[in-house]
Amino acid sequence: MKIICIGRNYTEHAKELNNPVPATPVFFMKPESALVRGNLPFFYPAFSNDIHYEGELVLHINKVGRNIIQKHAHTYYDGIGFGIDFTARDLQQEAKAKGLPWEIAKAFDSSAPVSEFIPVEEFADLGNIGFSLSKNDQQVQIGNSSEMIFNFDSIIAYVSRFVTLKMGDMIFTGTPAGVGPVTVGDKLEGFIGGRKVLLCNIR
Ligand code: ZN
Repeated sequence: MKIICIGRNYTEHAKELNNPVPATPVFFMKPESALVRGNLPFFYPAFSNDIHYEGELVLHINKVGRNIIQKHAHTYYDGIGFGIDFTARDLQQEAKAKGLPWEIAKAFDSSAPVSEFIPVEEFADLGNIGFSLSKNDQQVQIGNSSEMIFNFDSIIAYVSRFVTLKMGDMIFTGTPAGVGPVTVGDKLEGFIGGRKVLLCNIR
């Protein structure tokens, strides 16, 4: 499986990192070794001094597809989860400054904790899913799928023009404003529609 991540999909987050709002989705990938399930802790890596959380809604892909037409895109995912796109912001800024790829900042081991998936049938409106991230019981990010620049179906259509989607793949759909650093001892919790779905302790 692979993890595809959409960058800059919320206007306020693009602004907070001084990035332009994109005209087409921006995506990058994380390997299978980035995935963490089961609320296991995140171990702060030695290669960075500025690991940031990015709380995101995550799509679970349930069939193979390429060049997917947007109106059929909703049949290619069956669950919505909460994920944290851990980012080594210091390494990312260096890479950006040099025009280099982001892998060392984004694709490192355990950089993608993901909750259980909630079946799509349980949502009244996929275009109106509220979610939030708390750090040490303080809400630090709040978002809604209605605020995405590119919605789930347009993401699927766009990405599948370049990369075949396979069963079990996951798509991180972008983070709202409020990203920030973590330190050892922090507790992160992800919520979808007010329901706690993810716990991640920083060790
Ligand atoms: Zn992200």
